Parts: sequence; C-alpha cells; structure tokens
Amino acid sequence: MDANNLFGKNAYFVDNTVEPCEITRLLNFGVQQMGLGILFLDENEKCVYANRHAFSLLHAEYSLDSVYKAFEDWMNKLGIERSSAAWTRLFENQERERLYKVRYRHLLDDNNKTIGHMYTIQNLSDIVENGSGEQYRLTHDDLTGLYNREGFAQAAQNKLKDATKPYLLLYSNIRDFKLFNQLFGLERGNDILINIADLMIQHVTDDDIYGRINGDHFALCMPKEDFTEKDFKKMVREITSKVTSKSYSLHMQIGVYEIKDPAMDITLMCDRAYMACKSIKKDGVCEIAWYSDEMLVNALLEKEILSSFDFAIINRQFGIYLQPQVYADGSLFGAEALARWIHPENGLIQPGVFIDVLERADLIYKLDRYIWELAALQLARWKDTERSEVAISVNVSPKDLYYLDIKKEFTELITRYKIDPRLLNIEITETAVTSDVNKCAKLILELQKAGFKVEIDDFGSGYSSLNMLKDINADVLKIDMGFLRKTENQTRARVILNYTIDMAHELGMSVVTEGVETKEQLEFLQDMGCTMFQGYYFDKPMPIEEFEEKYK
Ligand code: C2E
Ligand code: MG
Ligand code: MG
Repeated sequence: MDANNLFGKNAYFVDNTVEPCEITRLLNFGVQQMGLGILFLDENEKCVYANRHAFSLLHAEYSLDSVYKAFEDWMNKLGIERSSAAWTRLFENQERERLYKVRYRHLLDDNNKTIGHMYTIQNLSDIVENGSGEQYRLTHDDLTGLYNREGFAQAAQNKLKDATKPYLLLYSNIRDFKLFNQLFGLERGNDILINIADLMIQHVTDDDIYGRINGDHFALCMPKEDFTEKDFKKMVREITSKVTSKSYSLHMQIGVYEIKDPAMDITLMCDRAYMACKSIKKDGVCEIAWYSDEMLVNALLEKEILSSFDFAIINRQFGIYLQPQVYADGSLFGAEALARWIHPENGLIQPGVFIDVLERADLIYKLDRYIWELAALQLARWKDTERSEVAISVNVSPKDLYYLDIKKEFTELITRYKIDPRLLNIEITETAVTSDVNKCAKLILELQKAGFKVEIDDFGSGYSSLNMLKDINADVLKIDMGFLRKTENQTRARVILNYTIDMAHELGMSVVTEGVETKEQLEFLQDMGCTMFQGYYFDKPMPIEEFEEKYK
C-alpha cells in the first residue's frame, strides 16, 4: 500500500517503505506523549479517537462515548459552540476546578471536504497554581482567556524583537458598546466580548499576537504583508454577523499603526492605533483608519487644550473679538462676539482650534457662559454712550442645550447687568436646531417672550434647513456665504440663495448674510433684497478697543 495515498498530500515525509499500521502506531505513541488531551471525531461527528490525557483531563470512564459525552456536557454547560476555535474555561468536577484551554480544528482534505474534527485540551491549572500561575494571571484576561494589556505588550515586544518583516498594530473599538451594556446588561456584553475573542482566534495565524487590552478594545499585532483592508473587513464582517442580532448590530472601528520602530513601547503603539480608531467618523459595520503623525499633533494639542482650559477660564485668558454687522453703506447695527483665547505663551488662538475640542469634551458650556457674560458686560458699558443701540450676538453651542438652562442663564445676565434683552442676540446653529427641533422651538419661543432676539446661525450648512423652518420661528436667519464658496455650480446656488432670502422675508425673519468677502458678493446680495451684512469685505473680527475706536 502507498503510504502517501493513505495519509494524503499533507504527509510529505512518510516513508513509503514503512507499513501504514506501523506509522499509525508511531503517531499514536507520539500523541500520547504530547501532554495534551486529544479528541478526534470522524466526518459524522462520532468520536473515533481519544488519547489517555483526554480521559484523565475529562475524568471519563474508559469508552470513547463517555469521554466525548463528558466533553460535550462541559461545552453545553458553558454554552460554547462546537466549532469555537479556542477557549479557556474552568472544568469542574467533584475533586477540584481546573483551567483548560481547548482548541478546535476542522479537518479538511485536499479538496476541502470534511474528514473530521480535532480538539486539543491543554491543562493550564498547573501554570495557574504553581509559580508561573501568578504570571499567567498577570498576563491574561479572565473573561476571554486572551492576553491582557501586559501580556499583549510582552508577547508583542518579543515577537517584534526577532521580526525580520514589517508589522502592523491594529486596535479595535466597538461602537457604542457602553450603550449596549446599558441596554442589554453586562452579561450579554461579556458574551459578545467572549464571542469576538473566540472568533478572533479562528482567524489569526501563528505569526499574530492578539489580546484584549481593556473593555471593548482588542489589539492585534500582525505582519504587514498579511494585511489587506479588503480581506480584513471581510473577516470582521464575518465576526460581527455572528454577534449581530435583531436588536443589535455590532459596528467595529479599527485603527492601524504601521510599526516603524519595533523597539518602541507597545503601549505607545496602541495609543497611536487608538488615535486612528478615534478619528473614524463613518458608521459602517467595519471602518478602518490608518494612523498619521498629524493625528498625534492634534491629540497632543487637544490634550494641552483640555488640561489648561480650567486654568485659562479662571485666569481670564478668554476674551471676545467683535465683528461688525452693518448695512450696505457700512453703518453699524450690531456685532458678533467671537471667542478668542489669548494664551500667555502661544498668543492668540482662534476658535477653530478649541471650540470643537471643548464640544467633544462636553466643556463648551463653561466657555460659552463666560463669553455671554463678557458680551453682557460690554452692553452694560455701552449703555449710556453713543453705542447704546448696538446689539451683540453670542453663539450657543448645540451641547449647551443639554448642559445649561439657557433661558435662565440669559435672563440672569439681563438682571445682573441691567441691560436690554433686545440687544443681546442669541445665535443657535441650524445643526443644533435640527438635532432637537421640538426642544429648540420651545426654547426659542421662551427666549423671545423674555425679549431676546434669536438668530439661526450658519443656515444652509445642514441638510434639513427648509424642513426646519416650518417649525421654528426665529427672528434672524444668518446665511453663511461659505456655501457659495464650496459649490461647483454657482448659478444654481444663487437661485437657491435668492429664494431662501425671499422666503425668510415672507416668514417674517430678517436676513443677515455673513462671510461677505467681495464687492461683487455685496452687490448681488443687495439685488436679492439683503440689507444686513457681516464679513471681511467690511471688517474682520477685532479686539473691543479697536472696534470702539473704529465705530465711534
Ligand atoms: P460663526 O458663529 O459662524 O462665526 C462667523 C465666523 O466666520 C467667524 O470665525 C468669523 O471670523 C468668520 N468670518 C466672518 N466673516 C468672514 C468672511 O468674510 N470670510 C470668511 N472666510 N470668514 C468670515 P471665527 O471667529 O473663527 O469663529 C468660527 C466659529 O467658531 C464661529 O462661527 C462659531 O461657530 C464658533 N465660535 C466662535 N466663538 C464662539 C463662542 O463663544 N461659543 C461657541 N459655542 N462657538 C463660538
Ligand atoms: Mg455665529
Ligand atoms: Mg455663522
């Protein structure tokens, strides 16, 4: 008999001159010595082989049926799927608990036809209980049995030390996982994590190092040559589809850091991959983003802003610049107060740098409250001067609606500074309004009743501008010319602009066009019936003293 035929193409090193039964005897002997419990099932899932270790690990009687039954009972009790690639769980019997790691392999022939199934069982109890047990606990995650942060860092460092090819570090986040835990409970959240870990093991190779770093974050260190976005996304989709149910769809975000210096601290690599991960705004089932140095610069800046923000507020480092709001002939009717950070070391910082950061960190309300107060103070100073009729508009961030009682804040300012509410105009962005139309409609009405004018800022930048107008009755529509700059089709944009201005007027709103930069813009806006403007064509935002100097 040809031994190669018997053992298939995989058995390259079978000596044809040795009898197959002799080879079987040798293999069996080897398998008994391996220190692992081994179970083989045939293609009909009947247990056809178990080594001695399997019997003793599973405390089974000496029959194949009983050993497999003990194994199956254990799996069923834990709720583990038969084909889970690898899992580590406690095995309990009368004597004591033991920690076993089980691996599963689906055995296929050269034509991908199932020829059987193999389970290996490794007893980890000894490592856990004697000297290295402490080590095991320190480096492994209780829940999934994967490496934890320390274990992953050590293993990845070791792998990279000897690596001869470039590696990537991938870091994953499950979108809204906190929300999932709140909705469905921690236990189901844990099930998902265990599932992901089990499925992950199925897809990795021996070259990969992987672990659960914390919470819903997994990390994977793999050779660059094995990674393509397309295949990886396919794999992630496969994993997510198994976890996704009618009530929950799992979305994975993955940040990729290409390792340039293998000696770099693994934690730093994880941070960078996570930075890339956090930059993902899209909400697909699997989104991938690569780290770039720019992200690092931004993250550092963000950190710096957040750590010095409270100090800056207390030390009055924030101030307002005023941008004139004028009629076509340049005569003044108001100004918009725009925040500026006058940093003792870095100089003047524009709001583009810090507003977003503060909004993301839910801190913007502190700044806004401060800026509103500065504006109120300014109105109080102008009260009995020639500028007593000049209004100041202030900005309200969408997040303020959730953190502050806006009406209370503004009415208190009016009382404290004894100013006319007619002059403190409140700008709410269109995006804020559309995020909760009912709440905003109510708020706007209340503010108007208290005597304030409400302006819809950046009108036209969102997607449901027109729809919103039927429910919102604001005093002023601020249309930003920025949208003209962004569009390819000027003619169409101007038609839309023209109708928007007409419509606003018909709905009883005034229109202020901001971002007016050229004479040509001013002229066509005038042709469309606009009378109030704000833009560089007239003036840029400027310090209060300069404003007072210029508009006497
Ligand atoms: P915004 O409220 O729409 O303010 C108008 C912005 O457009 C200002 O930018 C202004 O300098 C700029 N601008 C005015 N005219 C022109 C022009 O002709 N051309 C161009 N290209 N730009 C023009 P700034 O001061 O950098 O503020 C940017 C944004 O930051 C503001 O947009 C507002 O959304 C936000 N912001 C500023 N201060 C505050 C604040 O105190 N609180 C909150 N929540 N947001 C603020
Ligand atoms: Mg504004
Ligand atoms: Mg605006």
